[in-house]
Amino acid sequence: MYPVLEINLKKIRNNAEIIRKFCGKRGVEVAGVVKGAEALLPVVSAFLEGGVSCLADSRMNHILKMRKCGIDAEMLLLRIPMISEVDELVCNVDISLNSEPRVLQEIQHACERNGRHHGVVLMADLGDLREGFFEEDELIEAALVVENKLDRVRLKGIGTNLGCYGSVAPTSENLGRLVAIAEKIEKKIGRRLEIISGGATSSLKPLADGKMPERINQLRIGEEILCARDMEEYFDCGIDGLQKYAFVLKAEVVEVKTKPTHPIGDMMVNAFGEKPAFEDKGKRKRALLAVGRGDFGQPDKLIPKLEGAFVLGASSDHLILDIEDCKEDVKTGDVLSFGLYYGPTLFLCGSDSVRKCFYQ
Ligand SMILES: *Cc1c(COP(=O)(O)O)cnc(C)c1O
Repeated sequence: MYPVLEINLKKIRNNAEIIRKFCGKRGVEVAGVVKGAEALLPVVSAFLEGGVSCLADSRMNHILKMRKCGIDAEMLLLRIPMISEVDELVCNVDISLNSEPRVLQEIQHACERNGRHHGVVLMADLGDLREGFFEEDELIEAALVVENKLDRVRLKGIGTNLGCYGSVAPTSENLGRLVAIAEKIEKKIGRRLEIISGGATSSLKPLADGKMPERINQLRIGEEILCARDMEEYFDCGIDGLQKYAFVLKAEVVEVKTKPTHPIGDMMVNAFGEKPAFEDKGKRKRALLAVGRGDFGQPDKLIPKLEGAFVLGASSDHLILDIEDCKEDVKTGDVLSFGLYYGPTLFLCGSDSVRKCFYQ
């Protein structure tokens, strides 16, 4: 029965629609990123019902699952394709993000083998240092190869990713550089690029501030539709009408005891090889819950709904809450609820030990 992940599809539908309209008004199309919910089908359907027509995921197994279930929406692969998956790619995915000439060649071959065509968006690395061409000239050269030599690969446009590895903020400067590169390519190929893809949820910030270069016409949005927390809490820029708590974790209390706050004995490392610090606050009441890092990954990104409770820590199968300051009398057998940031949402959706319960 527990732990259970309750998923409110109405909120996801609402958030998808709000984000689509928010972006649409500013000339930007939304690719709805479903990887944060493991592409669970009811969630994917909620994106589509919210009017998001292009779906995006980084994992081929998610895309194959969606296709098998008859989802025929336009599909975008976010992670650079593995050479070992190019046949599945061209048979199931409309567009992929790319940064390697060798992969582009392999996509062409796979298209020939399978009698297909495939669209590509070439990625520029503007400083976040994950994927993408770092040298502008190499990107332009690859664009010309696709345009002129790979007849089955269609150059749809260029894009970038920011705020993921290097935590670099999207700005009018770096996104302006993306547009400038696009325009250089357009001059050389003599046509307009269809897509200039300006990033993920973090790029909603310059869009909201009116600082998005005009030609950016696609964003790839996951977090803000699923969890709706980043814009408000990290970027101080909430979007009206978005709803939090689309995902709520419920877990059962298996022990309630008052214990010291500082461990007793010689200290080494915890179950994950870390050396956490402990503040001695004397004896306090705590609750042990039957759910752990194997399920949610990041304990500090759980938000206890119970007033006065806070997360002390977690091991692979247990979560420890401080409940000393709670007015409510928490007992063994009680079920406690948690709101979720993006990290735990992603882990919980993928955990087989967590039951999923969908609400319309
Ligand atoms: C995951 C991912 C996104 C979506 O990021 P959010 O912050 O969840 O909106 C966008 N683009 C790429 C390349 C991704 O891998």
